[in-house]
Amino acid sequence: MYRCPECRTRRRDYGLFTQHIRDTGHRLCICGGYHYAHRPGSPYCVSNPLSALLLADRYGATDKDLMRCARHIMQETPHAAAKVRELLTEWKLK
Ligand SMILES: [Zn+2]
Ligand SMILES: [Zn+2]
Repeated sequence: MYRCPECRTRRRDYGLFTQHIRDTGHRLCICGGYHYAHRPGSPYCVSNPLSALLLADRYGATDKDLMRCARHIMQETPHAAAKVRELLTEWKLK
């Protein structure tokens, strides 16, 4: 069963699935952030600037490491800074 990450419809057949992707223009990403094709910009997707931070958390990084990682992301991608701060607040880090 193939699920479209964009609209979540399912296709039993890979041919029908790729046809759906073509017809609708729905997007797939296979960057390796997930073990499956996903929507670009999903939480662990490499194209999501926050993915490094979420991955670090998932692999048990310390608060100090998370902060260092967060600062790095804010430096590299200033437009994601607000989201990074949101996440830090949620995690009660600062
Ligand atoms: Zn779709
Ligand atoms: Zn991706």
